[in-house]
Amino acid sequence: MVDTVSEAQRSYNMSRIRSKNTKPEVLIRSVLHGLGYRFTVNGPKNRQLPGKPDIVLPKYRAVIFVHGCFWHGHKGCKDFRLPKTRTDWWRAKINRNRSRAARNLAAVGALGWRAIVIWACEFNTSAKLEALRASLPGRIGLPTEVPEARAVAEPAHPYGKRRAKKQ
Ligand SMILES: [Zn+2]
Repeated sequence: MVDTVSEAQRSYNMSRIRSKNTKPEVLIRSVLHGLGYRFTVNGPKNRQLPGKPDIVLPKYRAVIFVHGCFWHGHKGCKDFRLPKTRTDWWRAKINRNRSRAARNLAAVGALGWRAIVIWACEFNTSAKLEALRASLPGRIGLPTEVPEARAVAEPAHPYGKRRAKKQ
């Protein structure tokens, strides 16, 4: 079994995959699951809310964006360095990504949802992952009980169980 894909090629490929199943996000999903949270990754709110959040927690009226440090230009992060070639082009691109993310966070907030950004570097070691796990309940906050919010929130059955449960 020879792996012909070099590490560089692999990270290039990964960067090209705008998939819902890139590894960092899957990891966050499993952490949330382990903490007992219910969430959607492909529900209407994932598609409709500004920036198409990776994870939506309807009961908490909270969304999570998992940000790659390079693509989102994580300031002060050692995982973000502008490439030495085409530097201006990259700078402009990363700046656009940053502005878009900032606009989306503001827009999500304006709609009454709490937006949480988790950077990839926050959980790239098992110790950091543990720290993140411990911090998540505080960052996600308490369930919302605002009647108006409940009316527009996602059904609490993200995987189509709602219909199944109907009597
Ligand atoms: Zn980072």
